[in-house]
Amino acid sequence: MIANNYASLPVVFASGNGSTLKDINGKEYIDFVSGIGVNCLGHNHPLLVESVKKQVERQIHISNYYNSDQGLAFAKELLEATSMERVFFGNSGAEANEAAIKLARKYGRISCMTKDGSTTQENPKNVIVTLKKSFHGRTITTLKATGQDKFHDENFAPYPDGFRYIAAGDYDSLDKVFDKSVCAFMIECVQGEGGVNLVDKDWAMTAAEVARKVGAIVICDEVQTGMGRTGSLLASDDLGINPEVVTLAKGIAGGIPMGACLFRNKVRDIFVAGDHQSTFGGNPLACAAGRVVLSELGKTGFLERVVSAGKAIRETVRGWNLSCVKDVRGKGLMIGVDIVQSAFEVQKECLSAGLCVSTAGANTLRFLPPLVITDEEITKGLEILRNVIDH
Ligand code: PLP
Repeated sequence: MIANNYASLPVVFASGNGSTLKDINGKEYIDFVSGIGVNCLGHNHPLLVESVKKQVERQIHISNYYNSDQGLAFAKELLEATSMERVFFGNSGAEANEAAIKLARKYGRISCMTKDGSTTQENPKNVIVTLKKSFHGRTITTLKATGQDKFHDENFAPYPDGFRYIAAGDYDSLDKVFDKSVCAFMIECVQGEGGVNLVDKDWAMTAAEVARKVGAIVICDEVQTGMGRTGSLLASDDLGINPEVVTLAKGIAGGIPMGACLFRNKVRDIFVAGDHQSTFGGNPLACAAGRVVLSELGKTGFLERVVSAGKAIRETVRGWNLSCVKDVRGKGLMIGVDIVQSAFEVQKECLSAGLCVSTAGANTLRFLPPLVITDEEITKGLEILRNVIDH
C-alpha cells in the first residue's frame, strides 16, 4: 500500500463541491485545508472542470521539445499578470524552488566573472540566505534551504552547502549575514509551514536592500502565499521588495500539479537551453487549468472577497475570547490560530466533527480554505471549531 511517510488521518474522501467534502460513507466536511492551499477554486468548480475535460480530449502532454498552444497562452497571461518576464514550469513547489536556486547560483557565478573566465572575488558567490522558520520543500537541496533544524535530519545527510539563515526581524545580523558570497536572499512573505508568521514589511525591505548592495538577487517563495492566497495575486506585491524571482505552485492550477519559477530584470536571460528541464513541466493540461485559475482570480471582487473572508474568520475567532486561543493572525485566507491544546489532537477532533483543518507546529492550527469559501461554509466550519476547542 501507500508508503508510511504520511501519517494520514482516518478518513477516505470521495468527492467535493465548493468548500465541502464528502467521504466514502457520504459524510460531509467543511474544508479549511483545500489540499494544503491547492484547491483555490474549491472542489468541482464548473469552469475548471469544463476546461480540464476539454483539454484532456484535445491533448494531455507533448514534452518540452515543442510548445503547446495552452503553454504559450498561460505563460503570456501569467507573466502579464505578475509583471515578470520569463517562466519555467515544473510540477511542484520544491521543483520551482530548485529552479530558483540554480538560477541564483548561475547568476552569482556569472556576476563576478571576468571576460577571461576568472573570478573577481576570493570566495565564490553562491550562498543563499533564507529565513529561520522557513520552509522551501522536501528535496535534499530545498530541505537545506529550509531554515529549521528539524528538516536537516541526519538520516538523509549529506546536504549541499551554500545556505545561511537569518531570523526575520533581525536587523543586527544583516551586515554579517549578507557578505559578498551571497547570491540570493530567499524569503516567504508569510511563513506557512513555519507557523503562519507574517514578515515585517520594513525589515523585509531593509534586508532586500542589504542583499542587493552585495550584489544578491531577491527570490520570493510564493508557493503557498501566491495566486491570491493572501488577498493579492502575489504576496510580494504588498511587501515592497520587488523580487527578481518568484516561485509558485499549490494553487496555480487549482489542483492539477504545477509549479512555476518566474524571473525578470537582470536574471531574465540567465538560463540557456539545457540549463534546466522537466519532462512534465508546463504540460497543456496543467496550463489549461492554470488559465482558468488566473482568469477567476482576475475577476472583479475576487481578491477583495479573499481579504474580507479572511478578516471575518480572524475576527470571529478573536471575538470568542476563549482562554484556549492564544493568538489569531494571518493575511487573506492564510490563517494561524495558536491554541493551548495539541493542534494535532484538535485537528483529529475537528475531522470527526466534520471540519478539515491543518496544523503548523505543535500548538498552531492553520486554515487555508478554498478562496471561494462561502459565508455559510465559514459559519458552519467555525461553529464546529468552537465546539471542539471550547470544552
Ligand atoms: N515552499 C513553500 C513556502 C511551501 O509551503 C511548500 C509546501 O508546503 C513548498 C515550498 C514545497 O512545495 P511542494 O510540496 O509542492 O514541493
